Amino acid sequence: MKKVPVGISSCLIGEKVRYDGGHRRDAYIADTLANYFDFRPFCPEIGIGLGAPRPTLQLAKVKGRIRCIQVKNRDVDVTDALCDYATELTPLQNGLCGYIFKSNSPSCGMERVKVYDNNQVRREGVGVYAQEIMRLYPLLPIEEEGRLGDSGLRENFIQRVYVFYRWQQMLETGLSVDALTHFHARHKLIIMSHADYHPLGRLAASACAENLSAVAAQYILLLMTRLKKIATRPQHVNVLQHIQGYLKKQLTMDETAELCEVIEAYRRAELPLVVPITLLKHHFRKTPDPYIEQSYYMSPYPQELNLLSLL
Ligand code: SF4
Repeated sequence: MKKVPVGISSCLIGEKVRYDGGHRRDAYIADTLANYFDFRPFCPEIGIGLGAPRPTLQLAKVKGRIRCIQVKNRDVDVTDALCDYATELTPLQNGLCGYIFKSNSPSCGMERVKVYDNNQVRREGVGVYAQEIMRLYPLLPIEEEGRLGDSGLRENFIQRVYVFYRWQQMLETGLSVDALTHFHARHKLIIMSHADYHPLGRLAASACAENLSAVAAQYILLLMTRLKKIATRPQHVNVLQHIQGYLKKQLTMDETAELCEVIEAYRRAELPLVVPITLLKHHFRKTPDPYIEQSYYMSPYPQELNLLSLL
């Protein structure tokens, strides 16, 4: 499988671009995710010509507005330069299927960045460059390296990256009513594990030659929004039982009882998701079903990432 293009704060993959001339290499990103993601590094502070090492920046309230300024010389305001840099890079950023930002940075932080306001500090800011990227690319799956330490958030982000990648591939091969219908069918069970899939199903079914572009735009916006919600155990149980229904006639009573028990054990958090999924895959290898075979639910991303064993 081709590596998926994903933007990243340069310091997270070991580039010495930080204010102190160092980096913040993240081992999981650089050693594991790099095997699957084609990382495109961007350092906005270097990009606007600040160099490394450089004076530190912070977010601060200036005349009621949050600005990115130099700590030692508050007259140096790089807010507009960082925004312009995000826009200038559009040709390089187009085609990205996700973005991983460095947390807590006044340029790259995705959320909860410190904002200084007289003597008060509040964690309510968003890095200026990151905010501009999120504004320019509302569909793009975004995450911070710190939050990737949480197994649920990590799985959710990687799943969204692969869904968006497959969407981009579908657009490259040519958007059509059939392609959209097929895309929805293959992702329906994934959607089901996050939210009610009916609104997306109705949208996909409403596509025709005349409204295709508009429906596709609405579809992907709604899909990427719904997928941000972390799938819960009860939702996965619902999907697993739905899949089990496709084996109703194929399984013996003992096999059915075993599968039910494994799904219940997953519901009780005694087993990870990979266990019922492996058992289901085993049964579908013996008696394949075309609908389940084409669904991405049981193989949403490369198995080697081992994410399902954490859920
Ligand atoms: S956090 Fe962003 S601006 Fe700061 S060093 Fe890393 S890539 Fe550069």
